[in-house]
Amino acid sequence: MVSLYDLDRADLARVLDGEPRYRVDQVWSGLHRKARLPEELTDVPKAIRASLAAAHPPALVEMGRMVTDQGDTVKWLWRLPDGKRVETVLMHYPDRSTVCVSTQAGCAMGCGFCATGQAGFDRQLSTGEIVEQVIRAAREAAPRRVSNVVFMGMGEPLANYDATWAAIERLHDAVGISARHLTVSTVGIVPGIRRLAREALPVNLAVSLHAANDRLRDELVPINRRYPLADLAAACRDHVAATNRRLSFEWALIDGVNDRLDDARELAALARELRAHVNLIPLNPTPGYPTRGTPPARVRDFAARLRSLGVNATVRANRGGDIDAACGQLRAAQAGSPREPGQPVTLSERAR
Ligand code: SAH
Ligand code: SF4
Repeated sequence: MVSLYDLDRADLARVLDGEPRYRVDQVWSGLHRKARLPEELTDVPKAIRASLAAAHPPALVEMGRMVTDQGDTVKWLWRLPDGKRVETVLMHYPDRSTVCVSTQAGCAMGCGFCATGQAGFDRQLSTGEIVEQVIRAAREAAPRRVSNVVFMGMGEPLANYDATWAAIERLHDAVGISARHLTVSTVGIVPGIRRLAREALPVNLAVSLHAANDRLRDELVPINRRYPLADLAAACRDHVAATNRRLSFEWALIDGVNDRLDDARELAALARELRAHVNLIPLNPTPGYPTRGTPPARVRDFAARLRSLGVNATVRANRGGDIDAACGQLRAAQAGSPREPGQPVTLSERAR
């Protein structure tokens, strides 16, 4: 059975065979721009609603959610039709509402500090499974509007390029999210960055750098052995030149590993050269990686050092950090992995 959001517009026209074009437009925009379920499309004849709902159910079944930051952060654990599990996070800020989506169930990139990487790869998500995460979050966000989508959940978006790109186009064209509010985060898949640079729609690029020398980066981010820093930097430069979008570097500060002043100096040199913005985030502890995040005072020192070297750096608020909101950690917690003391799981079971 094809899930609801795995129908593209041409598929929908076939499903609504014999209906006038305005009807297809009405349903398409109801499902996307208005984030409605088929049964809620009250301007559409009941028989159409019923047959669409019966033949094309949603792909995501809610297995649990956690709400923190006084309701400003909502994190879901979903079950997919084949039983795989993925996560989505909705974050409200004063000026925007951002959804963080997964692009794969699991991840094959093997970054040791990442809960998703530790669990390995299950499968690619389909375009519909990616788009539906945004729709479900948009329903929750109402009456606030989802303004931004970041591809920073589980999985490596550029290792699932076709489905990810089709999802980006759908979010832009059908949901109405502007290209400058769409951000792809990558561990550094160079051919994928080059493809992204050639697309007609210019989206933002975030690169999970974590180290600015090959020796350390080979260790933290194994894919660096295939796409070393010089190649990565060249691809980033081309992306910026082709799209005019701001580049950002993600840097998870790991206590005693990549948070020394020398690390700041190396990072600053690269960030200045590429005019990249740096997002610092203290590492979230995970079951499979005993090293801790950098303590707050040293995070501030690191940020101050970057700024003194002429780099634009922000410390990312650790949204939902108290409830395992980091990449892959909700799924790991529900699978019964060992838990950090002081981080209670308050997962409300809403399986249907
Ligand atoms: N695969 C892509 C996108 C998903 S990971 C990528 O790596 O960019 C999203 C972000 O979470 C990345 O910047 C990743 O490095 C970071 N991350 C993963 N595990 C983390 C942890 N334990 N603490 C802090 N950040 C983490
Ligand atoms: Fe995959 Fe990103 Fe996690 Fe690395 S950090 S294992 S690329 S999800």
